[in-house]
Amino acid sequence: MNILTFDIEEWFHLLDNDSTRTENEWKNYEVRIYENVDRVLNILEESGARATFFVIGWIAKQYPDIVRKITEKYEIGSHTLNHQLVWQQTPEQFREDVSSSVKLLEDITGKKVRLFRAPGFSIRQSEGWAFDVLSECGIEIDASVFPAHHAHGGIPSYGESRPAIIEHNGVKIKEFPISFKTILNKHIIFSGGGYFRLFPYFLIKKWTKEQTDYLLSYIHPRDLDFGQPVIKELPLARKFKSYIGLKNAEIKLRKWLKDFDFTDIASFDKQYDWGKAKVVKI
Ligand SMILES: [Zn+2]
Repeated sequence: MNILTFDIEEWFHLLDNDSTRTENEWKNYEVRIYENVDRVLNILEESGARATFFVIGWIAKQYPDIVRKITEKYEIGSHTLNHQLVWQQTPEQFREDVSSSVKLLEDITGKKVRLFRAPGFSIRQSEGWAFDVLSECGIEIDASVFPAHHAHGGIPSYGESRPAIIEHNGVKIKEFPISFKTILNKHIIFSGGGYFRLFPYFLIKKWTKEQTDYLLSYIHPRDLDFGQPVIKELPLARKFKSYIGLKNAEIKLRKWLKDFDFTDIASFDKQYDWGKAKVVKI
């Protein structure tokens, strides 16, 4: 089963870069989130696919009407309040950030927030405490783990990319890890972000067919925004990754949703046999 998720953030919410690091910088950039979220919602409407949305609290605070529009049809989870890497925070800072984001989203939607995704797969083996914090904040399902080595994070001991129960200090959380493909011992992500834009559609189609039991995608509104300005300060490699394939990404996504059935996390959660799921102790 294929799961569709969107991380709702602005075109300038790029991690690990000084000119886009905090809200002090974000206020300098133009607002594109309205048209970009509308584009996503229109694509979903036309395809009939279900999807789960992870929203940055900062977005919810500035534009609560966007959150209200999404929650009419789709479940919303937290993508933190301030979109910072988890391993750059103390457990206390992370707790403050996640609990504020959950409260904000719950106040706007009137619904319980039970899903979470960290920015940049940034919960590593050494941040097992993050799962304790998530559980304290009422989170039941996490979708932050990259089950291999990764630049911003990764938990290689997680094993195969399938939903499992993560256990840390007696706390249990359902985990929906990011999918990847192993080619020549390298872990290739293809179901979201710059990777989705980079690979030609025939490869994405082939690799999607091969993931018969489980595929988790993650698309950002900016991945489909061909008209977005270029952030000049980005190093060349980041520029490549941030802007490659923008022109055809929307067409590619539409094809993907036509060729394959996609559902949301809640639907997968209901039909998955959690009794047989692996328990991963972090
Ligand atoms: Zn993000």
